[in-house]
Amino acid sequence: MIEVTGLSKRYGTFLAVKNVNFSIEKGEVVGFLGPNGAGKSTIMNILTGYLSLTQGKVTIDGFDIAENPEAAKKRIGYLPELPPLYTDMKVREYLNFIYDLKKVKFPKKPHIDEIMRLVNINHVENRLIRNLSKGYRQRVGFAQALIGNPDVLILDEPTVGLDPQQIIEIRNLITRLGKNHTIILSSHILSEIQAVCDRIIIINYGEIIADDLQDNLSEKLSTEHSLVARVICDERDMLATLKTVKGVKDVVALGKKENGAYDFEIIPEEGADVRAGVSGRIADRKKQLLALTSSRLTLEQVFLKLTQASSNEEARKMLGFVDDEKTTTSEDFIIEMPTEDKEGEE
Ligand code: ADP
Ligand code: MG
Repeated sequence: MIEVTGLSKRYGTFLAVKNVNFSIEKGEVVGFLGPNGAGKSTIMNILTGYLSLTQGKVTIDGFDIAENPEAAKKRIGYLPELPPLYTDMKVREYLNFIYDLKKVKFPKKPHIDEIMRLVNINHVENRLIRNLSKGYRQRVGFAQALIGNPDVLILDEPTVGLDPQQIIEIRNLITRLGKNHTIILSSHILSEIQAVCDRIIIINYGEIIADDLQDNLSEKLSTEHSLVARVICDERDMLATLKTVKGVKDVVALGKKENGAYDFEIIPEEGADVRAGVSGRIADRKKQLLALTSSRLTLEQVFLKLTQASSNEEARKMLGFVDDEKTTTSEDFIIEMPTEDKEGEE
């Protein structure tokens, strides 16, 4: 549905997006995760045709965004970071206005009625947008993106600035829309992405440093799936016992933790799952296993580890990516400090 190859974007001399490649299948819900300034909005603005690209190719449903912008844009609904709401308009009046702008062909009233129902704003159709809460304004933003029934929705930080209740409502809305749309959603907050996306693309200094399903990401980074066992036992005896379990590479005694209970860190040989062997052996010795926990990294730790790596190359190495294409490090391409003001692009 979305194909991005060799995409780069330069603002003056500053390379904000650097040789980015990804493709998104129809129906996927993908999260762009990255710290502020990583390049998420820039990529989204290019995908939606609001910003020109410096290098590379972007196609939406086969239509090249540069060569065939109208056909490509028709397939996309875009909710920018700051939705273009005309606050002096009433809700329905504004949606009618967007409908005309987008030159939509569906019968007007039923189409807008359906969208207002979907995002649950039909009861405020005659309210001025400026009098709505931030959560409701965001729903109006969603409604304008949905006009024309685009297959693809691009949502730039859709929950930023909302209170927890509103965040839950918007999340539920995204989950519902994800059932029959292809969605790209950006956030600098992992939990936002985690809640609604299956696949995560981590962006850092204008490059993709990870692109995988949620589950795979944390697995890849935890090279040593060590376990911690808490056992009521004699420490020295148990240490010796655990070392003899099949598949165990090493055991480290972590000391006394509760009354009579000791912790042991168990490091398995590569690829070995020693959980059953460990609990079985402890039972054989008539000792009580109180807990067996994995020291697998949480996704939060993965994200921190990756974005705090000294360079994107380093981060990719952590994930075990083979770096055969010669990539420059982020330090090489930050030529000057970026300015905040937008260039006169379109
Ligand atoms: P994100 O959305 O991930 O926070 P952006 O895409 O907004 O990141 O910005 C990526 C980088 O490009 C940042 O360093 C930002 O300051 C810079 N940048 C964004 N827009 C412009 C612009 N119009 N002119 C110059 N630099 C820009
Ligand atoms: Mg942004």
